Amino acid sequence: MAANDRCLFCRIACGEITAKKVFEDDVVVAFNDINPQAPTHVLVVPRKHIASLDDLTEEDAAIIGMTMVRASKIARNLQLNSEGYRLVVNHGEAAGQTVFHIHVHLLGGRNFGWPPG
Ligand code: AMP
Ligand code: ZN
Repeated sequence: MAANDRCLFCRIACGEITAKKVFEDDVVVAFNDINPQAPTHVLVVPRKHIASLDDLTEEDAAIIGMTMVRASKIARNLQLNSEGYRLVVNHGEAAGQTVFHIHVHLLGGRNFGWPPG
């Protein structure tokens, strides 16, 4: 059963809802975004249910660190490391957060503007 049975990403993490997984281990699951914003758009999601950046505590430092390390490993496996890619974490409605289980967007395969929209 999902850690939080009303949370979409907890349900994907435990396999209750299917997604196109590209990587998983005991810390994270990573799967293709259902509404991709770039040729590669993977969500890297820690298995632990943490609602948002604002809910992080010191205890979560290792999990978040490993989430970033996994994101970089997935990017390397997808051969995005030489051309460049972007990692994004949205917090709150103004930034466009729609799923309240923390996740890192891994976007690649095109050029990205700066500042972001
Ligand atoms: P955010 O808006 O930063 O909270 O990101 C949530 C992301 O989850 C969006 O890019 C959605 O397209 C994506 N998403 C929503 N439902 C699913 C799903 N069932 N499988 C894969 N990605 C999803
Ligand atoms: Zn969750």
